[in-house]
Amino acid sequence: MSQSQVTVALAGNPNAGKTSLFNALTGARQHVGNYPGVTVDKKEGEARLDGEPINIVDLPGTYSLTAYSLEEVVARNYVIGQRPDVVVDVVDASNLERNLYLAVQLMELGVPLVIGLNMVDVAEQRGMKIDPDKLSELLGVPVVPTVARTGQGVQELLRAAVDLARQKPDWRPLDISYGADLDQAIAELAGILEGSTPRHGLISARWLALKCLEGDHEVLESMRQDQNLASRLEPVRQRVGEHLKSTLDDDPESVIADYRYGFLSAITRQALVLEREVRMDFSDKVDRVLTNRLIGPLFLLGVLYGVYQFVFWASKAPVAWLETFFGWLGGAVEATLPEGLLRSLIVSGVIDGVGGVLGFVPLIMFMFLAIAVMEDSGYMARMAYLMDRVLRVFGLHGNSVISLIVGGGISGGCAVPAVMATRTLKDPQARLATILVVPFMNCGAKLPVYSLLISAFFAHRQADVMFALTIISWTLALLAARLLRSSLLKGRQSPFVMELPPYRTPTLKGLLIHTWERTWEYVKRAGTILLAVSLVVWALMSFPGLSEQDEARFASLAAQAQGEEDQKEIANQKASAELGGTVAGRLGRALTVLTDPLGFDWRTNVALVGGLAAKEVIVSTMGTAYSLGQGAKKGADAEPLAKRLQDSPGWTPLSAFALLVFVMIYSPCIATLVTIRRETGTWRWPLFSMVHNTLIAYLMALLVYQGGRALGLG
Ligand code: GDP
Ligand code: MG
Repeated sequence: MSQSQVTVALAGNPNAGKTSLFNALTGARQHVGNYPGVTVDKKEGEARLDGEPINIVDLPGTYSLTAYSLEEVVARNYVIGQRPDVVVDVVDASNLERNLYLAVQLMELGVPLVIGLNMVDVAEQRGMKIDPDKLSELLGVPVVPTVARTGQGVQELLRAAVDLARQKPDWRPLDISYGADLDQAIAELAGILEGSTPRHGLISARWLALKCLEGDHEVLESMRQDQNLASRLEPVRQRVGEHLKSTLDDDPESVIADYRYGFLSAITRQALVLEREVRMDFSDKVDRVLTNRLIGPLFLLGVLYGVYQFVFWASKAPVAWLETFFGWLGGAVEATLPEGLLRSLIVSGVIDGVGGVLGFVPLIMFMFLAIAVMEDSGYMARMAYLMDRVLRVFGLHGNSVISLIVGGGISGGCAVPAVMATRTLKDPQARLATILVVPFMNCGAKLPVYSLLISAFFAHRQADVMFALTIISWTLALLAARLLRSSLLKGRQSPFVMELPPYRTPTLKGLLIHTWERTWEYVKRAGTILLAVSLVVWALMSFPGLSEQDEARFASLAAQAQGEEDQKEIANQKASAELGGTVAGRLGRALTVLTDPLGFDWRTNVALVGGLAAKEVIVSTMGTAYSLGQGAKKGADAEPLAKRLQDSPGWTPLSAFALLVFVMIYSPCIATLVTIRRETGTWRWPLFSMVHNTLIAYLMALLVYQGGRALGLG
């Protein structure tokens, strides 16, 4: 990027149309990364104006610039630290006053600003006409009307932004009056801060003073680094706080917000012409029904049911194609390579391991598509709104429900996208709690295990057991969340109000972009980390191989064998003996000290260890461990394995149920752990999740098995 290239940063409230504008400006010339140190998406791209490249940065959507949430901190730090040449604030014209709140804060910061007055089409439909010139005159910044969705006005907006950037204006912070009391306190604090904060040299002292009064965590934190400074600021802060409490019965934060809205309402009143009385609009009418206490939840269940029906119906064929493809690939490799380690490595390590996960891609893709439709249409917000009150009791947030469902709340999801979906949670503590309980849900990879054990031991009560498992997973998740929120993740619930953005018809382009972005993240993971992990698991389950004597023994047995049945049986026994001697097999034996009280034998332990890589590995490993050799790979042929389990000594419906519960709860798979690491920025939480979940799983399985035996169910 050349020194003279202009950088335009896009700011705006969530749903104001930032992404649409970004896409309209940059087309295919864009890429997504993360802001340094945090996992908030950083989108950058290139626009062209008169053939010249312009750098565009899409900031996270925020309502303000006070450090209430990660997005706000990220957006603010970017603007302050990177000093983009100009910020374009994308404003939803149909919700002008509320959206301009961010603009005021950007103006208070002083950054060169242009307002993209977006969604003028929606505003017009609702009978609002906004005079952009008037608005520009009153605010003192350029205003360009746009319809980002169709691209209308987008080039003009870019031109206005670049024109301003080329003038290289100084940062000129806007001063608004916050009433006599606050104005005086701001001046006093600014006086103290002036000069004493070299590291904040780029920001005005007045701005910092204002943030102090707003109770901005980040600013206060950095002030407190300096004892001397803090001891001079704190009394002023306290005094104003008490004074406002006694005179207005309110805190500085809300008074400041009131004044900002006051400032804006004066402006919007002049710039906004209501052409006709705005009555209930379409969204309000629909919401009367869909967020109704009775109809709302029923409709929600219907939607979720529909989503699952759709996802499974649509992905059935492609999943089968992929399965055929990987089967064919494995077969082809088997046919070309001679028997031996290399072949085993490629077939069992690479193709089965990575293929097993890539095989889920169509399912995941359609799930993401369904989620994108719910998100872009505005329905997701209603879902969160409906669940918010219930989830708050457990220290979670309405938006947590989206993650829980994506993670398999109804069964069949995946924790990886679910953990990623927690990004919509503003409150960091509630977000962490959600991340930690998402793995309790019944993801798609656990289903093959369930179906194996259920068909073996509960053939007549399949639906009941499945239902019980769903109830258990939700109960445990909510209880664990409650526990975490009152211990490790204490903290007041953020006062963030759930809001209901208007319903919109999603655009195909938007849906495709959203679906693609997330699917690609999943695929990338399968290609890298999972490949490494499946190689490790393969090695653990392959080395050391059989001794020469054993090899010879099985060879002679095979030579004596009569008929195909015998041959197969011997091959199976050999596979089992091979596994028993490997590192994984020994580990499984060593673990029986711990798992005897749960009713698991060494083979189950091996499978559970393998399941750390991916839960679907459990079934294939049990297949091998229960000496089924090649026949029962990937549970495709689960019947005989189920029969074997039934006939194996030590297996009872009770021990099977204990295992079901254990598999549901114990350590998340590696892919999930890695995602947790990425999303939380530290290895601490994935490690915690591993230990915490395995511990709970152990206790629950112990409770089921020993409790059941005490009741005489063994
Ligand atoms: P973001 O959250 O700010 O990134 O908003 P998006 O770009 O994702 O837009 C949210 C929704 O508003 C999408 O469904 C867009 O298609 C739609 N949208 C964006 N701009 C306009 C516009 O100017 N007019 C209309 N009618 N819809 C828009
Ligand atoms: Mg967006």
